[in-house]
Amino acid sequence: MNTNKDVWVFIETNNNKIEEVSLELLGKAKELAADLGSRCAALFIGNGNDEKINDIAAHGAEVIYAISHPELAKYRTLPYTTAAVQVIQKYQPEILLFGATPTGRDLAPRIASTLKTGLTADCTDLRIGDYTFHKKTYEKILYQIRPAFGGNIIATIVNPENRPQMATVRDGVMPVPEPDHSRKAEIIREEVTFNDNDFAVEVLRQEFEEKTVDLKSAPIIVAGGYGVGSKENFQLIQELADALGGEVAGSRAAVDAGFVPKERQVGQTGTTVRPKLYIAVGISGAVQHTAGMKDAKKIIAINNDPEAPIFKIAHYGIIGDLNEVVPKLITHFRKHQ
Ligand SMILES: Cc1cc2nc3c(=O)[nH]c(=O)nc-3n(C[C@H](O)[C@H](O)[C@H](O)COP(=O)(O)OP(=O)(O)OC[C@H]3O[C@@H](n4cnc5c(N)ncnc54)[C@H](O)[C@@H]3O)c2cc1C
Repeated sequence: MNTNKDVWVFIETNNNKIEEVSLELLGKAKELAADLGSRCAALFIGNGNDEKINDIAAHGAEVIYAISHPELAKYRTLPYTTAAVQVIQKYQPEILLFGATPTGRDLAPRIASTLKTGLTADCTDLRIGDYTFHKKTYEKILYQIRPAFGGNIIATIVNPENRPQMATVRDGVMPVPEPDHSRKAEIIREEVTFNDNDFAVEVLRQEFEEKTVDLKSAPIIVAGGYGVGSKENFQLIQELADALGGEVAGSRAAVDAGFVPKERQVGQTGTTVRPKLYIAVGISGAVQHTAGMKDAKKIIAINNDPEAPIFKIAHYGIIGDLNEVVPKLITHFRKHQ
């Protein structure tokens, strides 16, 4: 097998846990590798943490490049860049993917600039395809797809010449693959060498804030928009969510207006969700919002404007004043809980 066609995913760990986006990316990397006739591989940097290797294999990595060193116990830009670059130069993957997390956004550009290759940030989709430029066709290259110009267009970006083709991907836009714990991966352990400059920064203390809101795994979400009108009126959204056993969310306009906290924002710059039921109340349906919820199994929209774009993607639409419609729904669902 030609290893330099492989599709690699950087596995990010925080607080001794693998970030979910890394697992999401393994699912996508497996698909891309199948299109390329190559393998899905993981780049796993840290100190020890061998117990994670089974999990990485279970989520689809066929090869795991494991770099373990006491200096890599906590994430620091320079030692991680040095370690990653040495292994990438040795094995020359075709594609290298990172979560668009604070760590991914810090590490990926360092690696890309060291390797003098391109990087597309914040992708929402990745595919393999051909690209012709000046009568030359590049076969099976990575289409790096992301919203651009404030979400008004979807851009496909390619990096035809340099390798690896690198991208960061937003969390939640790709599903986590079903783990199969019987899967085994080839494990390649690599030693790396550092130079003194790599340790210019020392981590004195790390603090992890536990997430208090988990929209991504909520089966039912009731989201309110600017049309709800006030923070006080958002109580209606909370009551409807409570009656259905769901989570409350909001559009960015509702967050900016202070109706609902930022960690509950759905959309391009918020969380991407795919619940069984998404009820959009007083939300117009701007592309930046729908980018984060269009894959919900069922969408119900409540809006007093029959022309609101949200109705184009809703499975069921209720045209009316939310102040009349939502209390009726609350009474109904409380009765039939
Ligand atoms: C780079 C960028 C990133 C962005 N990221 C996000 C993001 O992550 N998430 C996001 O949501 N937005 C995002 N936006 C903003 C987005 O473009 C919209 O401005 C926003 O989604 C609008 O929110 P809204 O639908 O709540 O408000 P509005 O567009 O003001 O819509 C309010 C809706 O409520 C309806 N309404 C009013 N009163 C009532 C009533 N009494 N009963 C029923 N309906 C009523 C109106 O008809 C209207 O359709 C982003 C924008 C940019 C440029």
